Amino acid sequence: MTTGASIQAQIDQILARVHDGGRISYDEGLFLYRHADLLDLGEAANARRQQLVPGDRVTYLIDRNINYTNVCVTDCQFCNFYALPGDTKKGYVNSKHVLGQKIEEALKLGATRILMQGGHNPDLPFDYYLDLVDWIHRTYPAIEINAFSPSEIQYMGEISGLSWREVLSQLKAVGLQGLPGGGGEILDDEIRRRVSPKKIMTDDWFGVMKVAHELGLITTATMVIGFREELRHRMNHLQRLRDEQDDSLNRFGNGFNAFISWSVQIENTPLARSRFASEYGATSTEYLRHTAIARIFLDNLPHISASWPTQGAKVGQMALHFGCDDFGSTMIEENVVSSAGAITKVSPVMLPREIHRQIREAGFIPAQRNTNYDVLKVFEKPEDDEELKTIEAISAAAAKQGNWAELTLIE
Ligand code: SF4
Repeated sequence: MTTGASIQAQIDQILARVHDGGRISYDEGLFLYRHADLLDLGEAANARRQQLVPGDRVTYLIDRNINYTNVCVTDCQFCNFYALPGDTKKGYVNSKHVLGQKIEEALKLGATRILMQGGHNPDLPFDYYLDLVDWIHRTYPAIEINAFSPSEIQYMGEISGLSWREVLSQLKAVGLQGLPGGGGEILDDEIRRRVSPKKIMTDDWFGVMKVAHELGLITTATMVIGFREELRHRMNHLQRLRDEQDDSLNRFGNGFNAFISWSVQIENTPLARSRFASEYGATSTEYLRHTAIARIFLDNLPHISASWPTQGAKVGQMALHFGCDDFGSTMIEENVVSSAGAITKVSPVMLPREIHRQIREAGFIPAQRNTNYDVLKVFEKPEDDEELKTIEAISAAAAKQGNWAELTLIE
């Protein structure tokens, strides 16, 4: 019989290894997930964070999300963003004029990156993507281009008949610098077949990322919890990610540079209409527990970001005490999880000064970074934040208009 005392002894033994910098196994991760005290997990996750990213800086990125099209044929059960081909009321493809406006607005707000993702739009040939990246890179050479999650790359391969390697090589040649880790959700096909059966499956998601690592592209990994998955599914996702990361680092010296997780938002989606609707999603405590487990388990992945857009700033702040060393990005515009009920629907943007306030109040020092997590500027003292006032003035003018997605700047 396993007693409470022996469970605690096992927890202490595993956590002591984490504090000493050791790796934990799948079974140990599952054991901690089930039995460990939340605050003990936070403490161990912070120890892991200090082993990988020592110090008291918390980084963030000034960037803009751009969803270039919402037309999609993939029908994910958790998505309220997409429109089917032919839906002229809801469907859109951003023109270069609109994209240019969005990028210029972002540059004025100090952005160093754009992150572009969209639906699987059958009306767009592969040349569209090449032309898009090429045009952005030539017109706005200062901005980093992170674009197209593995499922979009797979779709481009399908419509063009090209391999993932050819697709990624050609995109890289015209200016693509990295791939977002979107579309990861739970990387376990048992769950994917239930909530997004037409979307990329686990092996292919990692297959695309493997080629990206080989080609030297910057990548991140994501994870979404709350699909009525069991803890073993979550651990399967983390285990596969850690294994692939070991392999990519060994073979190419390049792997995922960050991990971010959040809880699924289901408002207005088919999942909200299912008879299990009340069982979807995850509480803040669950999110924090998961964040800590991920930080402890993923000992080969340097950075973990807090997710304020879905969890809210307060939980985002707490996540900094559960092993996160990064506060994500300003986003400026977010349409996908927002249309499914995320916090961004109410407050679609967090300006640098507000990010600084959140980081400082949590007891850390804000530092602006780029996509590669190189620190661009450290804001040691609160007085240093004053220089961000200009951005605030620009943003306040835009906020008055009440629509961040179509942000217009007043100079
Ligand atoms: S989540 Fe992405 S792939 Fe799935 S339906 Fe929405 S836009 Fe399409």
